[in-house]
Amino acid sequence: MTDDTPVFWSAPYQKEICAKIVEVNETELRFDRALFYPGGGGQPHDLGTMSYQEYTLPIIEVYTIEGEIWHKIDKKETIDFQVDEDVKLELNWNRRYNLMRSHTAQHLLSYYIREMHECETIKANFDEGKIEIETSKKLNLNDVIRVLEESNHRLEENADVISIIVNQEAFQEEYKRKIRGKTSDEKKVRMIQLGDFDLVCCGGTHVNKMAEVRGIFLETVKNRVIKLYTGGKGINYTNRQRANLHALEEITEKKDSKLIELVNNKLKENKNLEEGNILLLKLLFQKIHTWSEKIQNYSVILLDIPTLDRITVQAALKEVREKIFVAIIGKNAILYLISTNERIKANEVIDKIKEKTRAKGGGNEGFAQMSVKDIEEPLQLVREVISSL
Ligand SMILES: [Zn+2]
Repeated sequence: MTDDTPVFWSAPYQKEICAKIVEVNETELRFDRALFYPGGGGQPHDLGTMSYQEYTLPIIEVYTIEGEIWHKIDKKETIDFQVDEDVKLELNWNRRYNLMRSHTAQHLLSYYIREMHECETIKANFDEGKIEIETSKKLNLNDVIRVLEESNHRLEENADVISIIVNQEAFQEEYKRKIRGKTSDEKKVRMIQLGDFDLVCCGGTHVNKMAEVRGIFLETVKNRVIKLYTGGKGINYTNRQRANLHALEEITEKKDSKLIELVNNKLKENKNLEEGNILLLKLLFQKIHTWSEKIQNYSVILLDIPTLDRITVQAALKEVREKIFVAIIGKNAILYLISTNERIKANEVIDKIKEKTRAKGGGNEGFAQMSVKDIEEPLQLVREVISSL
């Protein structure tokens, strides 16, 4: 291994190092040794601090420009950084270690996604204890659960995670044909091998032993995106989910599989209720002539039923056989006017109400509607309008 191998490759567990400043550009610095991962391949850059003279300053961004790694410092004081001066660099280790765990878990998941479902990983992103994988085709929930079962089983076997760095010639000769996914044309090729079964080109940071991942847990599977948790974050998430389910079980007194059945039945019941609503209104309309009032010579029904919506009103409308005029205030303070009497037109009544108020609405001779949110006693207004016809 040559000297210019970054520390994050050769010693990913190194939390701090001494280094020298080799280039300064105001708040951006370059060092002779690379402790901080500059980001790439879905893994975010590291964070941490730099100690210089009596100051300890946060490193807030790390990035590569033309192959050189730069560190952006959060500098409030006026400090002149000098080239060749010594600094101490220290990682936010907790964050880095969680990223190493997530990244290693992703290698394993992508391996099984391909092995079990002939499906490639198109994109992967990590955060502390979180993974998001986009796959080349849609996997269903059971496909993903099977991948997780195999992966978690592998974690328990605690295989080694091995970092291999070779030059391009050796890569071509010995490794290229064994690589899963994209190959590399860099002069120096970095590979990660899981146990004796998976080999990929990767420049990120990983744990040394698979068991360090401490479990992979599913959050969601939507379209082609799988979201997961690892380690402590996953354990907490799963326990919280279990607690939610437990609370539901207490309310409903049903065990989880029975709970799904219950929810399904409730959904069906709801549909029945809506259909029942229409049926009720239909019956009402069939007997409508028995309780209509006479205004002028017209048979008029005025109703205030705030649970009715337009679909229900229109479905029931088909049942009206009498020559009648019906006004209903339904859901969201919408006034529905239905006329089966050609001498009194629903849209004309609406227009007359519009002349007296600022309300908006319209329709045709048989059916019209308007919002009566800001109108006091709208049914009384309908009565007045019909009286004046
Ligand atoms: Zn990797």
